[in-house]
Amino acid sequence: MSGIFVAYSRKEEPTSDKCQQEIADHAVMASIAIALHDAETRIKKAEDALHNSETTLALAIEGSGTGIWDRNVLTGEINYSPGWKAILGYADAEIGNRIEDSYTRVHPDDLAYVQATIQDHFDQKTESYAVEHRIRCKDGSYKWISSRGKVVSRDAQGRPLRMIGTTTDITSMRSLADQLQQSVDLITSLTNEVPGLVYQYRMLPDGQAFFPYASEGLKDIYELTPEQVASEVTLVHQVIHPDDLENYCASLNTSADSLQPWYLEYRVILPRQGLRWRQGEARPRRLPDGSTLWYGFITDITERKRIEIELQGFATIDFLTQLPNRRYFMTRMEEELARARRIAGARTAVLMCDLDHFKVINDSYGHAIGDLVLKHFAVILRNALRRNDTVGRVGGEEFAVVLFDAGVAEAEIFAQRVRSQLAETPLMALDQDIHVTVSIGIAVMHANDANIDVSLCRSDAALYRAKEAGRNRIEIDFS
Ligand code: GH3
Ligand code: MG
Ligand code: MG
Repeated sequence: MSGIFVAYSRKEEPTSDKCQQEIADHAVMASIAIALHDAETRIKKAEDALHNSETTLALAIEGSGTGIWDRNVLTGEINYSPGWKAILGYADAEIGNRIEDSYTRVHPDDLAYVQATIQDHFDQKTESYAVEHRIRCKDGSYKWISSRGKVVSRDAQGRPLRMIGTTTDITSMRSLADQLQQSVDLITSLTNEVPGLVYQYRMLPDGQAFFPYASEGLKDIYELTPEQVASEVTLVHQVIHPDDLENYCASLNTSADSLQPWYLEYRVILPRQGLRWRQGEARPRRLPDGSTLWYGFITDITERKRIEIELQGFATIDFLTQLPNRRYFMTRMEEELARARRIAGARTAVLMCDLDHFKVINDSYGHAIGDLVLKHFAVILRNALRRNDTVGRVGGEEFAVVLFDAGVAEAEIFAQRVRSQLAETPLMALDQDIHVTVSIGIAVMHANDANIDVSLCRSDAALYRAKEAGRNRIEIDFS
């Protein structure tokens, strides 16, 4: 601070040296007085500012639902801020300041834990003190609070003297957390109770895959634990049937590329359950990092598959002879005709076999023996087939054969073998040999046949000629 010091004199004569010295001394004193006043004012201002900011801080803490406590460890006295008392529903003067009283408000189930945690901090085992526990309010209800504190002074031996801390009401946070936990528990128990595997499957852009979530059903579906598949899927690949693994991987890749739902029926071979059928269904989603995340469900369909295969058998297999039935044989004929049209030089022979005088057998020995004869001939036919050949029972005692990659010559050898084997192997029944013979007509399939009936008709025509010519013989249609 600067200023001008002015001295007036009523006398007109010039001032003496002494007088001038006095005036100068006054000026110095005045400037000291001004400086002192100035310093006091600044100190006062600083004090006011500090007080204001302390008040603001305390108000801010109180306003946030947090209370403050200050404990004298030696005397057992504890002072609570008005905000602390407000959390528990007390007015400022309604609550005592003894630590013993404060412990009576802690929920009995939490007390030992709270005291042990404080003791650990007193013993300097922890940097600070922090616990969550229940505390009783004025109205008798309990609130969840988070209490944090720190010893701020200790004696020479390290014993605590004073501890200050805060208390925050976390009841609503706890109940939210509880609700969340309940939802998680519900989802987990739901997914665990559902028979089958509920899961998340994630495939990273580099092809690595794992199950971020897998329900308890994993133990049945793959005989693995969620931990075993949490970071990689090799163990899953190991239980998938080797013949189905390629298709399994390819179908997942297709689903990832197209983001279309994944659906697959596949087999697994498990250490405990053995060969089982699985059905998987999952919906994919692309994540920002380019990986794919499926939400899916895998179930056991072994029983359904068994029935399906059985039903398929009923639909395609002749019950008496256990050979393919007419319907199945015709679909095989269609496949062969398609192949003949597709592949130049593909050869297929078509044979028609009809038992000779079968009516006589029925009439002489009875229908049941007639059935045995049909079965007897079916075995001979089946044993004569190669892997890609097909035989079908296409009529009562009529059997048709498609020989894969065979022309007239090969077909004739086949037919001769079947004819002579039947002729030379009578059926033993009713203590006697029952002799049966067969006539066979041969034709070949042509790529330009209008349909499968064309070659069947040709072999039928050849068969007719064999019958006409005396039976137990083979005729060939060369057209
Ligand atoms: P051909 O030498 O001319 O073929 O004489 P065939 O007696 O075999 O002639 P046909 O085709 O007229 O007779 C077939 C007989 O086969 C008539 C039918 O009763 C009998 N048959 C058809 N299906 C069955 C069957 O499932 N079991 C039995 N036991 N007989 C059957
Ligand atoms: Mg017949
Ligand atoms: Mg016949």
